[in-house]
Amino acid sequence: MKEGYNENTDLVIDDLRTIERKSLLYLSEVEYGDFCINHVEGCSHGCKYPCYAYLTKKRFNKVSSYEDWCKYKVVSNALELLEKEIKKYKKIIKFVFLSFSTDPFMYGQQQVCDLTLKIIEKLNSNGISCTLLTKGILSPELDNFHRFSNTNEYGVTLVSLNESFRAEYEPNAAKLEDRLAALEYLHSSGYKTWVSMEPYPTPTFIEQDLMEILDAISFVDKIIFGRWNYSGKSSEFPNSKEYYNDLALSVIDFCKRNKIECYIKEGTQT
Ligand code: SF4
Repeated sequence: MKEGYNENTDLVIDDLRTIERKSLLYLSEVEYGDFCINHVEGCSHGCKYPCYAYLTKKRFNKVSSYEDWCKYKVVSNALELLEKEIKKYKKIIKFVFLSFSTDPFMYGQQQVCDLTLKIIEKLNSNGISCTLLTKGILSPELDNFHRFSNTNEYGVTLVSLNESFRAEYEPNAAKLEDRLAALEYLHSSGYKTWVSMEPYPTPTFIEQDLMEILDAISFVDKIIFGRWNYSGKSSEFPNSKEYYNDLALSVIDFCKRNKIECYIKEGTQT
């Protein structure tokens, strides 16, 4: 595939934009996080839930528009910063999450993926495990026990099996079946895999069968389930409390029956 070309859309990133940062590793406040790295500012996936990270950066004038957000900037001194910060935090890091406010395997963005692999390699060689989450394709290169630790955890976001929904709300991200195939490959190679089902849509966005989605991901080791938190169509759905309570119970029950670790995000069950 041509560098910077995403086959799902016409998004082309010709010139790699960069920024420098003063620090990289930080302790996350996200409920299931520990240390975290966001080595890119912006994200070509351009999710339209909308993306919480985009809204935050926009509010603080770090990005000027949705288009600016999609034409991400790579942190050019990420590896140098990591070298210094690993020494500082090594003893207190449980694991490093990539990433909460960008995507480590941005679909079709080879330079981002390459930098992510180098970051994981550096962390792993210092005895630090990584937890990954992407709406892109997890690199098959991760299946290299000499280069990467087998204690890493690899995850994809999957809130639907419907490609039209994906194209509308995750316009530049990888196709759902390709995401799942990459995850299943790493699972079959013996890695721990997981799925983030968040933000799970209400029927005002799409009518779908939760069990069908759960069956498609029954091979994973962990499922995180969370509600759609944004206003608009979700608030038009009249019984969202009962809806999410029922779905959360179904997820918990499914996970129990299939011996899958389960985590229901705060505010999903009320
Ligand atoms: S993949 Fe994540 S960071 Fe990227 S636009 Fe979508 S929600 Fe935002």
